[in-house]
Amino acid sequence: MPASPLVAPAADRPWVGNLTIRALRHAEQEIGIEFVLRGDSPMSSWVRRVRPGDPAGIFDLGTMYRLPRHARGRPLVGDETALPAILSILDSDPNPPPTEVIVEVVNAADVRSVLMPTGLHSHCLSRDVESVRPGIRALEAVRSAESPEGPVHTWVAGESRLATGTRRHLVNDRGVPRRDVCVHGYWRLGRSTPG
Ligand SMILES: Cc1cc2nc3c(=O)[nH]c(=O)nc-3n(C[C@H](O)[C@H](O)[C@H](O)COP(=O)(O)OP(=O)(O)OC[C@H]3O[C@@H](n4cnc5c(N)ncnc54)[C@H](O)[C@@H]3O)c2cc1C
Repeated sequence: MPASPLVAPAADRPWVGNLTIRALRHAEQEIGIEFVLRGDSPMSSWVRRVRPGDPAGIFDLGTMYRLPRHARGRPLVGDETALPAILSILDSDPNPPPTEVIVEVVNAADVRSVLMPTGLHSHCLSRDVESVRPGIRALEAVRSAESPEGPVHTWVAGESRLATGTRRHLVNDRGVPRRDVCVHGYWRLGRSTPG
C-alpha cells in the first residue's frame, strides 16, 4: 500500500471520513470525537464495530476557528454534525465576545442543554420529521434573526445547502461582506463523503 492510504487503489483504501476533535485530553493522550449515527452508513457501522485497540489513522487538516480582530460578535450556525465544532469553539474562549448560536438537530431528544456563559444566546431546533430537509430549520432561524449591531463574523457548517444558503442570505439580502461569513459544507444530502 502507498504511504498515504488516500492515494491507494480503491480496493485497498480504508474508509476515510471528516470529523472534529471535540476535546483534547493531553494527560490521558486521548482525543474526544462525537459521531452522528445514522442507520448503517460507513461511519455509523465503523463506530458500532470498533473496539479498543483497533487501528485508526488521523490526518490532521489543522483547521482552527479564529475570530477576525474587527468582529464584535460571532454567530455560530450548524446542524448536528457541526455541534462538536460549535461546542469546542465555545469551550475554547474563556472571554467570549457576544455569541448567538443556532443549532439544528434531528429530533427533540437530541436537544441538549448547551451550557452558555453569560452573554451567549442559543437556539436549538429540531427537525422531528424525516420529510424536513436537514438544515432548513436552522436556515429559517438565520433568516428571521435580527441583524446584529456592529461587524460580526458568522461561522456556519453542516449540510451544504444550510452553509451556502446562509452565506447567500447574509451577503445578498443583508449586505454582509463576504469575508465575514465563513462557510463549511460538511456533507451533502444524497451524497456519500468523501466521494
Ligand atoms: C471538517 C468536518 C468536520 C466534521 N465533523 C463531524 C463530527 O464531529 N461528527 C460527525 O458526526 N460528523 C462530522 N462531519 C460530517 C461527516 O463527515 C458526514 O456527515 C459524513 O457524511 C458521515 O459519513 P457517513 O459514513 O455516516 O455517511 P456517508 O456515506 O458520507 O453518506 C451516506 C448518506 O447519508 C447522508 N448523510 C450524511 N450525513 C448525514 C446527516 N447528518 N443526516 C442525514 N443524512 C446524512 C448522505 O447525504 C448520504 O446520502 C464533519 C465533516 C467535515 C467536513
